[in-house]
Amino acid sequence: MEFFELCEKISKVYDVKQHLQEVLATLPQGVRLVAVSKFHPCEQILEAYACGQRIFGESHEQEIRQKHQQLPADIEWHFIGHLQTNKVKYIVPYISTIQSVDSLRLLREIDKQAARCGRCINVLLELHIAAEATKYGLTTDALHQLLDDGEWRQMEHVRICGLMMMASLTDDQEQIAREFQQAADLFDEVKARYFADDDTFCERSWGMSDDYPIALRHGSTMVRIGTTIFGPRVY
Ligand SMILES: *Cc1c(COP(=O)(O)O)cnc(C)c1O
Repeated sequence: MEFFELCEKISKVYDVKQHLQEVLATLPQGVRLVAVSKFHPCEQILEAYACGQRIFGESHEQEIRQKHQQLPADIEWHFIGHLQTNKVKYIVPYISTIQSVDSLRLLREIDKQAARCGRCINVLLELHIAAEATKYGLTTDALHQLLDDGEWRQMEHVRICGLMMMASLTDDQEQIAREFQQAADLFDEVKARYFADDDTFCERSWGMSDDYPIALRHGSTMVRIGTTIFGPRVY
């Protein structure tokens, strides 16, 4: 079966509105939802949009570019995937937030490209806390190094709004809880040390379809949920 045919079939049987509303009902006040729409067609995004959802997350440059062109202009796009520095210039003209900043080099490039188009981009620093070796992100040491270095203080076109992380892909709920708590503790430490007087540093982006109830118990202010809202992805 053709890819789009398959997508259409799935979107017809999957009730996006109902699932979105179920997720929203479980979120405490002040917690924002990033609806992760990667690999899902525009029709499904529009269903969520029709319910008032405005923040959508994507992780591939070409895919987000196409969707951004086709969908309403008031959507707040968040980039949540691994971002190569040579792709930054393509997303900076319209992206609201880049959640996956994991090096000074990338931060520098975002600042440079945002300056070129007269924008200021919200960014989150991505932590590597999970046990898996394959995940991107900054270790605790690398995070401190980046912030101690201080170059970011001179960047006028990025706004560091908080931290993002993914927990390990495991059934061990206690391990997941430990990892979220580790991220929450690190957030408090970083907040006190570098951003004590900066109210924009406030976001703790953790929690996905399978683990967001745990994330909410460990300080999450922003959950990134795909599968529960849109159904399984067809890769
Ligand atoms: C895909 C993705 C999500 C959403 O995952 P689901 O399990 O579908 O909710 C969240 N965060 C990141 C960084 C992702 O890449």
